[in-house]
This record gives sequence, structure tokens and C-alpha cells, in this order.
Amino acid sequence: MKPELAILIRLQGIDLELRKINEEKSSAPKHLEDLQEHLSSKNAELNELNERITEIQKRKVDVEDEFELENVRFGKSQKKLSSLKTDREYQALQKEINEIKKTNTAREDEILAIMEETSSLQEEIKEKKEQIKQYRKEIRAEKKRIKQLEDRLDAKTATLTEDRQTVSKDISPNLLSKYNFLKDRRACIAVAAVTDGVCSACNMNIPPQLYNELLRDEKILTCPSCQRLIYALKVSH
Ligand SMILES: [Zn+2]
Repeated sequence: MKPELAILIRLQGIDLELRKINEEKSSAPKHLEDLQEHLSSKNAELNELNERITEIQKRKVDVEDEFELENVRFGKSQKKLSSLKTDREYQALQKEINEIKKTNTAREDEILAIMEETSSLQEEIKEKKEQIKQYRKEIRAEKKRIKQLEDRLDAKTATLTEDRQTVSKDISPNLLSKYNFLKDRRACIAVAAVTDGVCSACNMNIPPQLYNELLRDEKILTCPSCQRLIYALKVSH
């Protein structure tokens, strides 16, 4: 193999590693984003619960006020009942009293239902707050983990970038620019092995004449299908 090609393969190894590091770095916050989404939906749920509790507490105050007022009216009406002269008046007032009784019983039921709902909402709120606390804790830990990972990856990147510069110096500018051009357009694979006449990168056959030329290893050739720089790689069967 031409020495320059061997250096390019080393360079490609470095570039593949750099690419892997970049992928790892960009996918690192994925879990954090999930956690933050969970946290914000828990917060929204907590807000809804708080709103609901405020709403039913307000309703409870109103119903209690109505109950009190009607209770006073009930007492007055009952007192008045004994002073009534005619049956008709008596029956009319009795009907009114029964009406008050009925609606106030309904109010009592509503107040009880509100109290029950309040206590179950408080239970839910407590649970939700606990979940939020847990998510906040996980988020803090995850941020710490990401920071450590990023620091480690940045250090690796710095080393590899230095290596890349050193290795690049031994490649002619023409070949290096060809390599860089291919690397950017061929998913980081600019140099490919050809085994048994087949390009390992694009899986196309190399024409026999070109393959023979490749085996002679006199100059750096390119794959006619994918334009990558190629070299012959013999495998023992
Ligand atoms: Zn090819």
C-alpha cells in the first residue's frame, strides 16, 4: 500500500472517532430533555390540582353562606307557622319550609362532597409534589453527568484534533483536500478497501482492468462508483 494511503487510513480512523464523539455529545442531553418534559407536565398537573382546589373551596364558601341564610329563613318560618290563622296560609308556609329543608339538605351533601374531593386533591397534590421533587433531583444528577461526559469528550476531542494535525502534515495538500472533500460527502468514509474486486464502501464491482492496476499498487486510485480512494485488501479464504 502507498505510504500516503496508510496515513490517510489513520486520519480516517481519527475522523471516525471524532465523529463518534460529536454524536455522543449531541445525544447526551436527550435523557435530560425527557426529564425536563416530565417535570414540566407534572408542574402543569400540580397547577391544575391547585386551581381545582381553589375553585371548589370558593364554591364551598358560597354554599355555606347560602346554607346559613336559608337556615335563618327556616327558623323564622317555623316560628311564624304557629301564628298563622288559615289552613291555606299554613300549608303554603309549610310547603316553603319543606322546600328550604330539601335544598339545604342538598347543600349539606354538596359541602360534604367538596370536603371529600378536597382531601383527595390534597393527597394528589402531596404525591405530585413528591414526584416533582424526585424529577428535580434526577435533573440535577443528570446535568452533573452530562457536564462530566462533556468534559471527558472535550478532552478527547482536543487530543484527537492534535493528532489529526500531526498526521495531516505527512499528506500532500492535494490528496488531503481530496480526502476532506470526500469525507464530508461520504459519511466520513473517504478511503475504502477493495476485496475480491468489490469496493467495501459502496459494494460495487471494480472493473477487472482497474482492479489489476490496483493490485499493482503503483498509484492511488478511486472507485468508479463512489469516487472513494481505494486500496486492495486481500483476505484469506
Ligand atoms: Zn465504491
